[in-house]
Amino acid sequence: MTHAWRSEGAILVGGAAAACGLGWLEGRTTQFLLVFLLAYLARHLYYCVHLLAWLRGHTNELPDGNGIWSEIFHHHRLLKRRHRRRKRRLAKILKRFQQATSALPDATVVLTREFSIEWFNKAAARLLGLGKRDTGLRIDNLIRSPQFVEYLEKRRFNRPLTLAAPRNERIRLEIRIVSYASDRYLLVARDITQLHLLERQRRDFVAHVSHELRTPLTVLKGYLETLTDSPDAVAEAYHPMLMHMDEQILRLQYLVDDLLYLSRLETTQEHPGKHRPVDIAALVQDICKEAAHVQARHARIEVEVMPGAKLLGNEQELRSAFTNLVVNAIKYTPETGKIEVRWQADASGGRFEVSDSGKGIPAEHLPRITERFYRVPGSDNANPTGTGLGLAIVKHVLNRHDGRLEIQSQAGRGSTFRCHFPRKRVVS
Ligand code: ADP
Repeated sequence: MTHAWRSEGAILVGGAAAACGLGWLEGRTTQFLLVFLLAYLARHLYYCVHLLAWLRGHTNELPDGNGIWSEIFHHHRLLKRRHRRRKRRLAKILKRFQQATSALPDATVVLTREFSIEWFNKAAARLLGLGKRDTGLRIDNLIRSPQFVEYLEKRRFNRPLTLAAPRNERIRLEIRIVSYASDRYLLVARDITQLHLLERQRRDFVAHVSHELRTPLTVLKGYLETLTDSPDAVAEAYHPMLMHMDEQILRLQYLVDDLLYLSRLETTQEHPGKHRPVDIAALVQDICKEAAHVQARHARIEVEVMPGAKLLGNEQELRSAFTNLVVNAIKYTPETGKIEVRWQADASGGRFEVSDSGKGIPAEHLPRITERFYRVPGSDNANPTGTGLGLAIVKHVLNRHDGRLEIQSQAGRGSTFRCHFPRKRVVS
């Protein structure tokens, strides 16, 4: 038994004994005992009232109490002290966290489920132009760019969004949104102006170099043609060299053309509103007819297209991407093989597919096959004028059409290149 219980027992037993003794002397034992019990109950009620007032926060002080109450009050005081210490510690952590996020160079905004602003740091005030009065407002009322509004609506937060800062067009921001704590979003905006400038300089450099290379290449090609057209002008021993030079100049020309085309795709941001319904069935027939002339002897080409369904897009870009796939199939498939070209559209979207029974691509090369200039070693034999840019162009064009490239291939068995387009792009 603890000291508090012993003391409480002493009060009860001692008090009752004293009441009985006095009552016996006065000849009113029951009345004295009753008075004592009432006083004992009143003491408990008195302490209960104090405790309740203290718990409700009406008073800061607890009486010392006696008996069991001294222990109850003591423990409550200890609890309160511990609680205060923990609160102070948490407040300190929170303050330090807020100071750290405030010092972050990236704009950080805490958003509710409805995208209302709950908190933001100094960088957010600077980069996004947020002010204290904006707390509680929806973020899309302040960042009104249509791209950002669409980004929020579609909630495709797995990819970052790049856009100009709301208050300064020259600042480029990379915006990322992550969901946390089941009902909050964290928006982080990073200033990527320098990176963007460097990227633009790189693109401009490639475009300029490719452009500058065009003229000397045309001159060289012209002289070479003159020489090959008049075989008597050159000793026969040099003929194989001329042929090799011709092949390499052609390859250089393809390289320059592909590089220029890629940089055009990268630099022109075509508005999707400019896209028109493209008759893919007719386009595919056309491409296959033209591609068949690429190589005099080639594998059998079978075309299976679904008439009627059109694809919302840029015809020139789609022609270039599909031609790359069909020409690759022709180049990398022996003439005894078979090539199948398909276009299908249904409720799940549109699919353009080129399958061949050619040399295929070994599994270890598949992850890198769409990178610029990446070629499977030994591809030169089948396609000496190849540039390694064809599939990069295909991927880029598909990105501009909300599409995706799927590649299935097995070395020695053939390959299937499938372009998937979303349903919203298919027009019946
Ligand atoms: P290239 O001009 O070299 O064909 P691409 O970017 O079009 O450049 O293709 C990259 C590489 O992918 C090629 O070098 C080749 O090794 C491989 N490849 C592309 N299409 C096929 C195919 N249908 N069959 C086998 N390999 C292919």
